[in-house]
Amino acid sequence: MYELGTKKSTIRTIFEYGRQRAAEVGEENIFDFSLGNPNVPTPEFVRDAAIDILRNCPPEQVHGYTVAPGNPKVREALAESLNKRFGVHFSGKNIFVTSGAAAAITICFKALAEPGDEFITFAPYFPEYKVFVESVGAALKVVPPSPNDWQIDFDAFQKMLNANTKAVIINSPNNPSGAVYSKETITKLTAMLKHQFNQYGRRIFLISDEPYRELAYGVEVPWVTDYWWNTLVCYSYSKSFSLPGERIGYIVVPNGVDDFDKIFGAIAGAARVLTHVNAPSLWQLVVARCAGKSVDITPYERNGKLLYDGLIAAGFECVKPQGAFYLFPKALEADDYAFCERAKKYDLLLVPGADFGAPGYFRAAYCIKTETIERSLPLFKKLADEYRG
Ligand code: PLP
Repeated sequence: MYELGTKKSTIRTIFEYGRQRAAEVGEENIFDFSLGNPNVPTPEFVRDAAIDILRNCPPEQVHGYTVAPGNPKVREALAESLNKRFGVHFSGKNIFVTSGAAAAITICFKALAEPGDEFITFAPYFPEYKVFVESVGAALKVVPPSPNDWQIDFDAFQKMLNANTKAVIINSPNNPSGAVYSKETITKLTAMLKHQFNQYGRRIFLISDEPYRELAYGVEVPWVTDYWWNTLVCYSYSKSFSLPGERIGYIVVPNGVDDFDKIFGAIAGAARVLTHVNAPSLWQLVVARCAGKSVDITPYERNGKLLYDGLIAAGFECVKPQGAFYLFPKALEADDYAFCERAKKYDLLLVPGADFGAPGYFRAAYCIKTETIERSLPLFKKLADEYRG
């Protein structure tokens, strides 16, 4: 625990370095692409809902405890919103409201993990998966990346599946690659899970971590429970409503999940031991009112295009992102740490791909001011020219 609490993540270290440099050379001279902190303001309708609820709802509803899975009316409203958008048939009993996606996925890991279990995910991946999975006594196995399109290397995945596999974790739109798993990818993946089920008679769960679901640019993000009955969907409003500090999201437990009552019960048990008493009551009410309302993602789309076009023009190689707010280009030398270190010379703060299980690449979060991206492009060009000699 001490190590976890004191060893800073690379992202945090870079971010703190940026703060220090900003104090020395001025905020406007730092090009900080390190953090995935949404910069589009929280939509007015969300803020209005919060104010109205604070003013007009009974205080015990706004500030009191709710039952552990969440306020029953909120759960109904969230299910209804999913039904309208995805043509599914959920009710409140399929929803467990959580303090964001981090809590949702950790609760799922804890609910499912038994000694000897393995969870599989695909590089590049959100580094906290390792911390969360290991915290519940299971092992995280990482399928190597598939850099041509950042979809899935199915041969490598097949080799990793075994009788100990408890669950497979996917994240689409993806942090850090910006890839959206296509229908073909999800179909093939779930077909393999079905086959595995037949082979070992052991159900494998799919945990779909979806905090970026709404941040997709002109492509469909497949609704995964349509493809595999044993899927737990973990959602968060951190990114879509720019509410990362409010901690609000949910788990969807479809009726088709094997042993629904046991799994839902285990989720409640996991939430209990993790002392997740209930998700914040005020924000439960707010998202119930606002669920399904569309959000303006054009600022992210514009930033993504600007940065992508600029980097390609400067000579970088990068798969065009389809969602989230990250670009994951190839570093200009094999050692991505050395590359990110060299980029600091221009005050370009980038995160090495090795941190996400994909060495040789780097992550640039473009949820920052458009103007900062515009001014960074000549610096990326200078950096690339340096490598060309
Ligand atoms: N999963 C992924 C892939 C993320 O990128 C993040 C946050 O950046 C999370 C989960 C956690 O999000 P939340 O703020 O909802 O806990």
